[in-house]
Amino acid sequence: MSDWDYAPAPESRELISLRSSYGLFIDGGFTAPVDGGAFKTVNPATEEVLGEVAEAGPADVDRAVAAARRAQTEVWGPMRPAERAKYLYRIARIIQERSRELAVLESLDNGKPIKESRDIDLPLVAAHFFHYAGWADKLRHAGFGSDPQPLGVAGQIVPWNFPLLMAAWKLAPALATGNTCVLKPAETTPLSALLLAEILQQADLPPGVVNVLTGAGETGRLLVAHDGVDKIAFTGSTEVGKSIQRTIAGTRKRLTLELGGKAANVVFDDAPIDQAVEGIVNGIFFNQGHVCCAGSRLLVQENVAEAVLERLKRRLATLRLGDPLDKNTDIGAINSPVQLAKIRELSDVGDAEGAQRWQPPCQLPDRGYWFPPTLFTGVSQSHRIAREEIFGPVLSVLTFRTPDEAVAKANNSPYGLSAGVWTEKGSRILWMAQQLRAGVVWANTFNRFDPASPFGGYKESGFGREGGRHGLEAYLAQGNETMGPAKVAAEDSHDG
Ligand code: NAD
Repeated sequence: MSDWDYAPAPESRELISLRSSYGLFIDGGFTAPVDGGAFKTVNPATEEVLGEVAEAGPADVDRAVAAARRAQTEVWGPMRPAERAKYLYRIARIIQERSRELAVLESLDNGKPIKESRDIDLPLVAAHFFHYAGWADKLRHAGFGSDPQPLGVAGQIVPWNFPLLMAAWKLAPALATGNTCVLKPAETTPLSALLLAEILQQADLPPGVVNVLTGAGETGRLLVAHDGVDKIAFTGSTEVGKSIQRTIAGTRKRLTLELGGKAANVVFDDAPIDQAVEGIVNGIFFNQGHVCCAGSRLLVQENVAEAVLERLKRRLATLRLGDPLDKNTDIGAINSPVQLAKIRELSDVGDAEGAQRWQPPCQLPDRGYWFPPTLFTGVSQSHRIAREEIFGPVLSVLTFRTPDEAVAKANNSPYGLSAGVWTEKGSRILWMAQQLRAGVVWANTFNRFDPASPFGGYKESGFGREGGRHGLEAYLAQGNETMGPAKVAAEDSHDG
């Protein structure tokens, strides 16, 4: 009976109009590639093709970098900082106004649940632009000398797990410090960056200040190797990060790398168990576990392990997997068949290595790419599922007896991006935070982000910080570094 139908959901697909094909965003306008190709982007929840997207080739990268250079030297660099701030505020406000549209598009192209794109990704995207808008005219008071200077043109490469949020993390500080940008979104999630480009047009951002080059790894490689780029900011896999570092070694280019992780989430026996269970779930099942700082290794104190696992299993059985656009969905689709194959392969390795797999009863949709929430017990430190990043909804559970053992196990990883500590003792939190080799340590919470807080890794998780005042540093010239091709290389790794 129609009287009893639900009202249409405010986050409906009707909010967005998809085009059959998308061009590159260069010098303020959308344009066809000169020497590139095209690829299709797919809704991972249905396998439906959402559109055909341009793939930038070498001449397109040249055009975008030239437009960014021109805009930097003629318009954006000389502009009064308070004027730049106005653009950033305007962009932030339009993002807020169009956040439903952006959230729906992000969920369609990425597969993440709408309640996450709507309530987490989009508010943080706007918050990053607001935060850095505030810094734009205060750089002289930020502790970087009396006359901080931009680097020039920044090449920015982002992954598919938080497409718009990672773009905001990179664009906002670069623009606030007077740099111009060439952004390359990931090949499986290009659409929200292209909608952001429309928003930049709507905000009247001068042409060339931000350019968006869609394409796959080859487009990213061309951007990294381009002579006209002064800085590369990369977020993605450790493997590609290492290859980028090799490419730009010995050049004048500055580099920041935000790479993978295998975070320990450490639960002590005095932790409030129900809250810890929520934190464990949020830590590894948020965004299907496609999170660089995911709490993918649970370290639980042996005397409470049984109780924690029992409640954790009960909680996992309540998670709803399915249509990302349904606001009740907790676990959405895996972003691509490639990622799904990787998750399956590493989970099979877990079985073969002798760990015990547990999955709640969970009906997977017939079409699309899906993986149920999974936990492995009986995991030892040498297992690949305890060492390698799975980047999916898979939790490896280990136990410990003493705080020293917890620290030793938590730090026994080539990565060092984040960690979590659950305990009632404040002194233990502070001690753990000092001992853990991780860029971020959360206490009695997990996966909390704030634009004022720096984020970044140690060891194979990369170097450089994004967010907050620290995030400005990555886009400012250091010492006697001057803008332009004659610039001398500077080391910007500021961690161990
Ligand atoms: P990826 O390294 O394969 O791709 C990331 C981006 O780099 C994409 O845009 C891709 O097209 C591009 N790329 C691929 N090869 C390239 C090359 N040779 N030169 C230049 N660019 C190239 O990673 P992914 O699979 O898209 O993302 C998942 C990884 O990202 C995970 O390891 C995750 O931990 C990491 N990540 C890290 C953070 C962080 O802040 N530390 C945040 C999100 C994701």
